[in-house]
Amino acid sequence: MKNPPSSRRHSHADPSRARLVSVPAAPAAAELATDLDAALTNAALMLRSSEVVTILTGAGVSAESGIPTFRDALTGWWSQFRPEELATPEAFATDPARVWGWYAARRASVRRAQPNPAHEALAYLARRVGRCTLLTQNVDGLHEHAGHEDVVSLHGSLMRVRCSADCSPAFEAPLEMDATEDANGPITPPACTNCKAPLRPDVVWFGEPLPEAALTKARSATFACDVFLSVGTSNMVEPAASLPWLAASHGATVLVINPTMQGQRTGPSIVPLLGNAASLLPRLLARAWPAKR
Ligand SMILES: [Zn+2]
Repeated sequence: MKNPPSSRRHSHADPSRARLVSVPAAPAAAELATDLDAALTNAALMLRSSEVVTILTGAGVSAESGIPTFRDALTGWWSQFRPEELATPEAFATDPARVWGWYAARRASVRRAQPNPAHEALAYLARRVGRCTLLTQNVDGLHEHAGHEDVVSLHGSLMRVRCSADCSPAFEAPLEMDATEDANGPITPPACTNCKAPLRPDVVWFGEPLPEAALTKARSATFACDVFLSVGTSNMVEPAASLPWLAASHGATVLVINPTMQGQRTGPSIVPLLGNAASLLPRLLARAWPAKR
């Protein structure tokens, strides 16, 4: 039987088309696992017997740390803008102070945030399985704060800045580059000390390619895993959105931890675990490794 036409079909399994794009949500899946407890037990068994686990995280993992999603953060002065007026190379070229001010404010709020039980559980999981790769779409650095090593940051880092003319490597943003708490508005970006071009955040904007090294690691980890754990992501931003389905097509079991299955695909190898990451992940791991927690 042919699949019904859908806006998601074009993007199915080619993360080599690696420009960051937002895709519309697919209809909510009709049939979901209703017995969460049984699903958790089942998922814990799979996790425990797996040798190669690949994790993909999104905004839902940081929500419990008080970090709003990009759209939810568009409040106050920022509410007049759409994401593409703040997170594209065109927006930066048009109004660098607006874009820099937005990221300086985001960075200041992220610096005050702490990792939550979801970050901690994932760092624990990485120590339990033979080979574990964490791919994240988050730019807040909280996985690293929780002690997770070798994080693959698909969308760059809010905590780093770089020359917009690419004359030199990215570097950690010093505190004085953050917005002060009451400064929510445009801030002129500092100039690169080398070439005088404005600095920019070291994040991937819509329409920009993902860092090649990160994407290569993401692809090989996706092909290699026996369990793919998708956490707190609605899988609506390509190319990361295709990774779970790519893993499934290569024989992996895909565990999806998210409050809803809206926008997610379903299938025989896809196990939905509906709920928020900070409460479900510790439960899942306690069940997989009961004595060692
Ligand atoms: Zn420069």
